[in-house]
Amino acid sequence: MKLAFVGLGVMGFPMAGHLARAGHDVAVFNRTGAKALRWAETHKGRAVSTIAEATAGAEALILCVGADDDVRQVTTEGLEALAVGAVIIDHTTTSAALARDMANLASAAGRSFVDAPVSGGQAGAEAGKLTIMCGGDPAAFARAEPVMAAYAQAIRHMGPAGAGQLTKMVNQICIAGVVQGLAEGMHFARRAGLDPVEVLGAISKGAAQSWQMDNRWPTMAQGRFDFGFAVDWMRKDLGLVLDEAAANGAQLEVTRLVDSFYAEVQAMGGSRWDTSSLVARLEPPA
Ligand code: NAP
Repeated sequence: MKLAFVGLGVMGFPMAGHLARAGHDVAVFNRTGAKALRWAETHKGRAVSTIAEATAGAEALILCVGADDDVRQVTTEGLEALAVGAVIIDHTTTSAALARDMANLASAAGRSFVDAPVSGGQAGAEAGKLTIMCGGDPAAFARAEPVMAAYAQAIRHMGPAGAGQLTKMVNQICIAGVVQGLAEGMHFARRAGLDPVEVLGAISKGAAQSWQMDNRWPTMAQGRFDFGFAVDWMRKDLGLVLDEAAANGAQLEVTRLVDSFYAEVQAMGGSRWDTSSLVARLEPPA
């Protein structure tokens, strides 16, 4: 298929690579053009200098940018040049309201829009094993699914426009409490005179096991946070969650508290640290 891909960051760069390797004709655009040029040096595909150039005649526009305003800008600039009937697949984590707006905008122009936030992080994007939760009408989802298959291990249609973003919010709520629990467990282990690595060996095959424990405990124990999913992005996501909860009446006491802890990590200089850096509040790096 003729595809446009916008946003070549930690996630988008490898995702666009999987599409090129799957045999699609991919044109890439990124705000900082050097990243698009670097992508085109290592992949079969074209770097272009405007969004409209990327979407000219394309059957799908795939985005993985920053936040709501970026998605609005890219969708508005790219929409008209897309082939009629094309689908826009948005992997950015945004508000559900934005997804509904963009779906209406696309539909009025004879195109469609699928909100398709992802889980699995940088490693999942590089390995082509992301989990994708989608919102949109069924026909739009059916067009988007074979494209996303190039970098996904699980793709699920959750309901109408916005349902993918709402599902991603649930994902972030579940992660926030787990990571704080791990941080407190490690802190307690040290205060109790235990070796965190030994503790991991003892408890990681039991009921406390989690993806976060398996993948983040060893680096937390080393005080290493220079990788992964940035605290700034997590605060953006928890802000979306808390706004949605204010509207739907959900009570999210732990999520709200953990969000305030992430604000403290930002104040410590940890904006770009991985989300596992919650432990740094309790065990400041040496
Ligand atoms: P990132 O590394 O900051 O990449 C975002 C990319 O989009 C950058 O290359 C940026 O360009 C580009 N961009 C932003 N706004 C743009 C615009 N208006 N026009 C064109 N290009 C634009 O972020 P990321 O970690 O890949 O995350 C991207 C999205 O996925 C976020 O919504 C994040 O919450 C979500 N997400 C991330 C992860 C993760 O583990 N990283 C996991 C799940 C979901 P510049 O080069 O100019 O900055």
